[in-house]
Amino acid sequence: TKPLEGKVAIVTGGSRGIGAAIVRRLAMDGASVAFTFANSKEKAEAIAADIEAKGGKALAIHADSADAAAVQRAVDTAASHFGALDILVNNAGILLLDSLEAFRLEDFDRMFAVNVRAVFAGTQAAAKHMHDGGRVITIGSVVAERSGFPTSAVYSMSKGAVAAMTRGLARDLGPRGITVNTIQPGPTVTDMNSDPHSHEMLKGLMALGRLGEDREIASFAAYLASPEASFITGASLTIDGGYLA
Ligand code: NDP
Repeated sequence: TKPLEGKVAIVTGGSRGIGAAIVRRLAMDGASVAFTFANSKEKAEAIAADIEAKGGKALAIHADSADAAAVQRAVDTAASHFGALDILVNNAGILLLDSLEAFRLEDFDRMFAVNVRAVFAGTQAAAKHMHDGGRVITIGSVVAERSGFPTSAVYSMSKGAVAAMTRGLARDLGPRGITVNTIQPGPTVTDMNSDPHSHEMLKGLMALGRLGEDREIASFAAYLASPEASFITGASLTIDGGYLA
């Protein structure tokens, strides 16, 4: 049998990149998977159709993570559609970079809303539905440990915030056997990180000499979601090709 047979998952930002890879992997492992998108409706619907065509169960839900109430509604919709909820993956995130002088405080607020506030709101909603032994997984970033380049102060703050939030939430949900962890990817090839010039620069910083693939991050998420990972909680775990090494 598949490791996540009978489980229900919701992934935020599942229409592209790391989130889409996580959606596909959890479905492959047997979970019924709801996922949100903000702009990429066609891509989201194509992923859901593909999973269904392969015999899985998927549901694409529009929910802009900048609106915490929309995320909470999406979690409620997923739980009522599939009749339960076992796994929440907070993946939706945005990267806005600018010099210290030019950085707009509107962008500070937007990045905080999507990368941090929605994670808390989504977890609040998910905790109401979750069975004992559930899983909360947030996609942070290795920049929580090492910013590495200028212009990234606010993005790094948002990823440090979810790492700290994870420790707190692990304490809140531990008594119910629900584990809460952050995955901190290093540079990974996605639309967010698609500039060939920065790829060359980043490769020089990686022990493995290459960027990560979305499916490599999804594999780690699938492990943390599985029954195998039952004793890992409150942790922010790096998967970075040796960026920090
Ligand atoms: P992409 O930009 O490639 O994809 C982002 C996904 O999140 C899309 O599905 C997008 O949906 C969704 N999304 C973005 N904003 C919102 C929003 N406001 N509401 C709902 N969904 C939203 O990013 P990645 O796959 O690279 O990143 C995924 C996560 O991994 C992020 O949290 C990011 O910070 C983190 N990360 C990425 C790294 C990298 O190098 N790529 C490294 C470390 C961490 P739509 O198109 O529908 O708007």
